Amino acid sequence: MSSSSRAKTILFWISIAFVGLMLWKLVSASGQSVREEEPSYSEFVARVDAGQVKEVTMYLSQNSYELQGEYVTPANRRFRITIFKEAAPDLTKALRDKAVKISVRDLRTGDWTLTLITVAPLVLLFGFCLFLMRQMQSRGVQPLKTRQGDVRFGLGYDLHRLDAGRPFVVGGVEIPFDKGPVGHSDGDVLVHAICDAVLGAAGAGDIGTLFPDTDPQWKGVSSLIFLEQLGKVLQDQKQSIGYIDAVVIAEKPKLGPHFAAMKATLAKSLKIKPEQISLKAKTNEGVDAVGRGEAIAAHAIATLANS
Ligand SMILES: [Zn+2]
Repeated sequence: MSSSSRAKTILFWISIAFVGLMLWKLVSASGQSVREEEPSYSEFVARVDAGQVKEVTMYLSQNSYELQGEYVTPANRRFRITIFKEAAPDLTKALRDKAVKISVRDLRTGDWTLTLITVAPLVLLFGFCLFLMRQMQSRGVQPLKTRQGDVRFGLGYDLHRLDAGRPFVVGGVEIPFDKGPVGHSDGDVLVHAICDAVLGAAGAGDIGTLFPDTDPQWKGVSSLIFLEQLGKVLQDQKQSIGYIDAVVIAEKPKLGPHFAAMKATLAKSLKIKPEQISLKAKTNEGVDAVGRGEAIAAHAIATLANS
């Protein structure tokens, strides 16, 4: 847990404590069945003159005084009234004349529960906002949040020349076409780009380092073997593939109809679900070697997360 989320947790529980305190004050006040009224100034003065006021506590603040207390009659009835500072001397004199017990407190330091109740709504609002933020984070962004710093991504790119008479293999699927990629293996650009993306995210070099084209054991093999070998690399690093997004650039043939088969084949070799792979196809608008149908290329991005 980070220090900021710990602070949020503490604030959250403080606000819960405030709610508890306010509820307790509410319950204990209603438990005593004390009724409180807020008379107007003239009403209050009339009550004072009639000798109906038992005791008064004055809470002083900058410009106004808040008076709280109890009536003699009606019994068990409390009052609360806010008066301007200027009215205080006259009122105090009137209260003294009737021998009403007066106690004076500073609003800021006099009664801590009063201060608490004044501040509580603000703290509550603040705490509630933090709580909402926590909820939103835990609902929407948790996978990123909890794995923040642990998600790694890698980029892969590959291009192969196309020659007549070679099988046209992309994403482990052979598509009928008059040309195919030239390479030490089957020249599968999509598999090679994905392989480099995964190795890049794992910080484990690239396809040429792991499966050098000078090594006769890789000659003419299906490139899917490379993907199968990635499992061990990832296992050693306690990483697993999160998602792969790739784009294949070829002027011909149409690749879209074969994407479902490619995803299934790639997913099987990578030991992930087809839904973890996204494939797209582009042409090169007749420009350069790819556009002239002399080559095929692919770009891929892979994310890895702690497994
Ligand atoms: Zn290649």
